[in-house]
Amino acid sequence: MLDAIRRVLGEALFPSRCIGCQRRGTALCAGCRTALPYLPRGLCPRCATRRGAAACRGCGHLSSALSAIHAAFAYEGAARNAVVTLKFRSGRYLVPLMGELLRESLAVRPLVADLVVPVPLSGARLRSRGFNQAALLAGCVAPAVRGVLAEDVLSRADRPAQRTLTAAQRRSNLEGAFACARGLELAGKRVLLVDDVVTTGATVSTCADTLARAGAGSVRVLAFARDL
Ligand SMILES: [Zn+2]
Ligand SMILES: [Zn+2]
Repeated sequence: MLDAIRRVLGEALFPSRCIGCQRRGTALCAGCRTALPYLPRGLCPRCATRRGAAACRGCGHLSSALSAIHAAFAYEGAARNAVVTLKFRSGRYLVPLMGELLRESLAVRPLVADLVVPVPLSGARLRSRGFNQAALLAGCVAPAVRGVLAEDVLSRADRPAQRTLTAAQRRSNLEGAFACARGLELAGKRVLLVDDVVTTGATVSTCADTLARAGAGSVRVLAFARDL
């Protein structure tokens, strides 16, 4: 009940604003749309970070079960503001816009998947936020990749929020945190894992390990934003 009141109050206190310039009354104004922080060219095709001279540092952090990370934007400016507003400032009104921007990026670099699986929230976090932002975005992209939205494939135990931890702590914090639903036919399935933002890749790597152990044929990630 308290959570519901907080949400309604939040939506009243934070009306629709442009994710770029904060102007009221629009989620993205025409001027800011032309200045969105698209990912730069020349990133590693697997981990979507800037490649070093020799072995890719970003790839070194990823699970071998993860074939590639795709993202529409760099996690900065308007894209970062969209992610933060969606999650922490009752920004559900941004979901149609963020879904549209994800589909635009899929029109440029198409992907196909059998199952579209959002990175889950723990039950406690889902109750306090009222929605899983990754599931809302996954629902927007499933038709574009000709996949089926599969929200209940992964579940997540309650652990401290990843963003409060150092890179080294993030991996151990996630050990055993994800589980795959029993009785699902995942064998050979191409899974597209969806999240709002990928930072170190620890969360999506742990999800990919869990899906691979349950028999998934391949796992790719689609994120709204990639922290470079
Ligand atoms: Zn604007
Ligand atoms: Zn890489």
